[in-house]
Amino acid sequence: MSGWKERVRKVTPYVPGEQPSGRDVIKLNTNENPYPPAPGVARALREIGGDDLRRYPAPDIAPLTGRIAERYGLDADRVFVGVGSDDVLSMCFLTFFRGPEPLLFPEITYSFYSTWAEVYGIPYERIPLNDRLEIDPADYCGRSCSGIIFANPNAPTGLSLGLSAVEKIAASNPDRVVIVDEAYVDFGGDSAVCLLDKYENLLVVQTFSKSRSLAGMRIGYALGSRALIRCLNDVKFSVNSYTMNRAAIGAGCAALEDEAYFEECLSKIVSTRERAKEALASLGFSFPDSRTNFILASHRSVPASKLYERLKEEEIYVRYFNTPGIDNCLRITVGTDAEMDALFAALRRMITEEEAQKR
Ligand SMILES: *Cc1c(COP(=O)(O)O)cnc(C)c1O
Repeated sequence: MSGWKERVRKVTPYVPGEQPSGRDVIKLNTNENPYPPAPGVARALREIGGDDLRRYPAPDIAPLTGRIAERYGLDADRVFVGVGSDDVLSMCFLTFFRGPEPLLFPEITYSFYSTWAEVYGIPYERIPLNDRLEIDPADYCGRSCSGIIFANPNAPTGLSLGLSAVEKIAASNPDRVVIVDEAYVDFGGDSAVCLLDKYENLLVVQTFSKSRSLAGMRIGYALGSRALIRCLNDVKFSVNSYTMNRAAIGAGCAALEDEAYFEECLSKIVSTRERAKEALASLGFSFPDSRTNFILASHRSVPASKLYERLKEEEIYVRYFNTPGIDNCLRITVGTDAEMDALFAALRRMITEEEAQKR
């Protein structure tokens, strides 16, 4: 082996969902929003001129930071913006969790948490969910740890934890940073933003990728105390001062200006989700009661891996995780009503065939 190979940082990377390019693909595998971003976003992008690109963007990501702050009734120095919440979360891991005690997070959750812990050399401990796939707040209280992170609603279970449970975790860990990843909160979770004035150690992370249809633009943010945001900025300015490009800043501001459109898309997705729960149940699936834009479903007789492969042959993409505890589940993103109907028709046919073969 060449000597340099021994000096390289080795990691097992996070594996994102497939991004197939065909036009007829039904893509229900990465929790993207099926509806386009607010119309003002395209307008804002058209208005970007040569001078905007010639010059560096604002290092404090103004005016987007201010607009986000306004929406949540916070001062701008309590908002940190990054290149998708993945960038924000990665900065959080680098800033807040130094060990030697373990960082705590659920055993079944966003699989990027263990990847960041590995790449930054942060010791961690994964805490099992209860048998209903819920986070038990008691597991995160009174523990020796370097910090806590969990997604609420959790992914890929889709289950939401009540605010009193989130508050209990923040209150029992005043000497540790507690991060709530609220990537899906707009689809029906309870946001911890209202607890931020009470807990200096609490940080809420959200994204424009799911509820605001801007996964391709890469905008995420953290909301918290001035002290936490200052620490995040110190690390960010030690890595890359200009994280957000001007197109993303403009697009983000435009998306925030159209709350009516935002609410309309959310209510369509929520009603399609509730309809999907009925359709999936009638096909023989069971699933936790999702508060997100996806459903983690397992079938009573046909293995998830088989359905995943067969759907893919028909260019219907859902997500399958070969992970203990959820390896018989499909994570199905809520698409448009038409996309979901195509999925249900395909599933009905496949399940009928598979069950007939078993007889
Ligand atoms: C999608 C997702 C993110 C990352 O989203 P970005 O596109 O990077 O903003 C973070 N956390 C969870 C739980 C997610 O599902």
